[in-house]
Amino acid sequence: MKQKIFIFLFFCLLSFAPGYSQTASYIRVAILDNAKSLNLKAKGSYEVTDISRKKILLQGNNLKTTVTVYRDAISLGQKSFRKNKIFIKTREPDEIIINGRAFRGDVELIKSDNSLLVVNYIELEDYIKGVLYHEASHYWPQEVLKAQAIACRTYALYQMQENKRNDYDVTNDIYSQVYGGRTSERYRTNQMVDETRGLILKFKGKIFPAYYHATCAGHTEDASLLWNINIAPLKGVACDFCKDSPHFDWHLVLSLEEIKDKLAQAGYKVKAIKDIVILGHDTSGRITDLSIVSDKELKLPAKDFRSIIGPNLIRSAKFQVNIADKDAVFMGTGWGHGVGLCQWGAYFMAKQGKNYKEILKYYYPGSNVETF
Ligand SMILES: [Zn+2]
Repeated sequence: MKQKIFIFLFFCLLSFAPGYSQTASYIRVAILDNAKSLNLKAKGSYEVTDISRKKILLQGNNLKTTVTVYRDAISLGQKSFRKNKIFIKTREPDEIIINGRAFRGDVELIKSDNSLLVVNYIELEDYIKGVLYHEASHYWPQEVLKAQAIACRTYALYQMQENKRNDYDVTNDIYSQVYGGRTSERYRTNQMVDETRGLILKFKGKIFPAYYHATCAGHTEDASLLWNINIAPLKGVACDFCKDSPHFDWHLVLSLEEIKDKLAQAGYKVKAIKDIVILGHDTSGRITDLSIVSDKELKLPAKDFRSIIGPNLIRSAKFQVNIADKDAVFMGTGWGHGVGLCQWGAYFMAKQGKNYKEILKYYYPGSNVETF
């Protein structure tokens, strides 16, 4: 993904609107995908432009319309534009409402295969405000909110570096960071974003993906076992802090038929499942691989099994499984992939009087809090 410098600059200019190219502080968030139509409101004066952002297609005050996608055009109410991409920019109060949810910044509508991708262009600090409420409770201690804001900002900047050639930097779901826009902001979380403004984590002078998760249940995970990243801050640490997390244990009963169906949807056709056998554990205690036994054996990495069944059903790769009649009974600990900051561990560290720097140093050893 890394570009040579001139290619990098070329794509920077291609990807970003005038005004966006001079600064790395705008992030592009995919907020809606595969939409056939959507309700759009823009408060105050607005401009609709083409991809160059120079040719004005429509302008006015207080836009309230239905956006529809056709094979060769994007329509705003009665007005059709034969374009694959259009850009909607507002002045004051800088707010666009899509399907009832308010977003700061501007919006790009991208047409592909008769459906729309909606990308929110937003100032990085405003984006972090829209994320923090979802990733941590606004009632939590200030120091853990600060640590979380810095981790979110670092993760976002890393994605911005990695995705310059794509139509967006991050999605608004659990596969990036959950982002709810202006609607999701709260006073305390906004305050902690402001107090850590511009602060990020670096390792040996470089931004890294500062992963985080809800509860590690004893030891955080070595990122190199899941993804292609092998650096000291993401090698895993022991964590006793999260032992009182409300998400420490989990329990799930799924029918073998349901598991078979989910595997089939993911392209793994198996006959009646007879057993699920755990094949091995890594040093953090998480399962590496397991085998689905039917008329043959299907070996799967635990992370793939989690994503096929649903990462919020199989909450972690730390579990035991027993077959009882036609069901699989899972008993597990922890929630999330386990890499980086353990959010409930960080919460209890803050409760014990640790500050955000101590929390971040603990979960990302060798990293430093710096400005970008
Ligand atoms: Zn933990």
